[in-house]
Amino acid sequence: DQNKYTGLIEDCYCDYETVDSINGEFLYPLLQELVTTSFFRYFKVKLWCDCPFWPDDGMCRLRDCSVCECPENEFPETFKKPWTHGLPSDDLVCQEGKPQSTVDRTLDSRAFRGWIVTDNPWTNDDETDNGEMTYVNLQLNPERYTGYTGPSARRIWDAVYSENCPRYSSGEICQEKKVLYKLISGLHSSISIHIAADYLLDETINQWGENVELLYDRVLKYPHRVRNLYFTFLFVLRAVTKAADYLEQAEYDTGNHSEDLKTQSLMKQLLYSPKLQAACPLPFDEAKLWQGQSGPQLRQQIQKQFRNISALMDCVGCEKCRLWGKLQVLGLGTALKILFSVDGDKIPVQPLQLQRNEVIALLNLLNRLSESIKYVHEKGPSVEKIFAEP
Ligand code: FAD
Repeated sequence: DQNKYTGLIEDCYCDYETVDSINGEFLYPLLQELVTTSFFRYFKVKLWCDCPFWPDDGMCRLRDCSVCECPENEFPETFKKPWTHGLPSDDLVCQEGKPQSTVDRTLDSRAFRGWIVTDNPWTNDDETDNGEMTYVNLQLNPERYTGYTGPSARRIWDAVYSENCPRYSSGEICQEKKVLYKLISGLHSSISIHIAADYLLDETINQWGENVELLYDRVLKYPHRVRNLYFTFLFVLRAVTKAADYLEQAEYDTGNHSEDLKTQSLMKQLLYSPKLQAACPLPFDEAKLWQGQSGPQLRQQIQKQFRNISALMDCVGCEKCRLWGKLQVLGLGTALKILFSVDGDKIPVQPLQLQRNEVIALLNLLNRLSESIKYVHEKGPSVEKIFAEP
């Protein structure tokens, strides 16, 4: 059924066709360029295994994926000196690791300045700089197949869904809980799509390529997963455009003047695009939420649930998955912070303040979702023809 995804995206003010065309023509190419700039390609993250939920099951100790568990005699002597930017690169440290699971920490010498450090109330991480933080070049660590699977991965998704945002029944009236479920499900779809788009087909010859069967089995077969992806994309897009004035004035200074000008110009194009404003002026209307009497308590409850989801990311037993899990959950947390930093009377709780890292996460998340939407739009119909049962 080619027309499965038509009309308005549920709870949004934009239809599938418009999202596909504005994404393909404008957002996707722009975001692809934006995330390669010096400002957007470095993400600060604590990759240490620090799982608060299942401390003893060895999940964080997967040798294939973890940096912390390498015996010290594997370190070259020169790496034993103190590190200024976190840990040494994995491929030098973790000889036994699968290269596709590990994180390459190669870093330019540029430093970022001028951003405020205030913890995000929606996420669990302490963002203060300390010795456990490391910078990761996202361009060297694409989100793709890593081989992380089985009970450890399953346990995290199960905890995310069953403990924090139970699937809503069709009679569910609480719009806000529905939003949380759809955001997580949309993100999950996007992660699965990236695994399918960049899969290790043959380990012996290190051959990478598409796995369309996986795309079908994990995403396309379940139309609500595709719909949730579109929803999550519009939700994050709304957050970005809502914060347009803040994001326009923000400093994208990395010390590379010409590139910083480019970053600023790309941000302006994104934030004030007449094309986008004409096609999809209000992707999602956050003002409709938290209207009921229990609005403030409900927001607190959902904030707590989202913080739990954020904390679960520390239990992800594969480093590269943990990196993208943390980045994207911080991106969603930033979108939630932008859209819901108002109390019941719509008065801002405080003026919007973002950290540099939150903005990096937000825009990289938007880019990942944009990639997933483009891939599903282009591949979906032909893959469904192959696998869908008559
Ligand atoms: P899973 O994807 O593990 O799904 C588990 C269950 O969740 C499914 O059986 C289904 O009931 C439900 N479900 C699945 N998709 C959706 C959806 N969209 N909406 C609602 N419910 C859904 N692996 C990599 O190779 N690379 C990565 O970068 C990577 N990143 C990860 C990041 C995180 C935070 C986590 C928790 C895991 C990550 N993984 C990654 C592992 C990957 O997501 C899968 O868990 C793994 O490939 C096993 O897949 P599965 O078929 O068991 O289904």
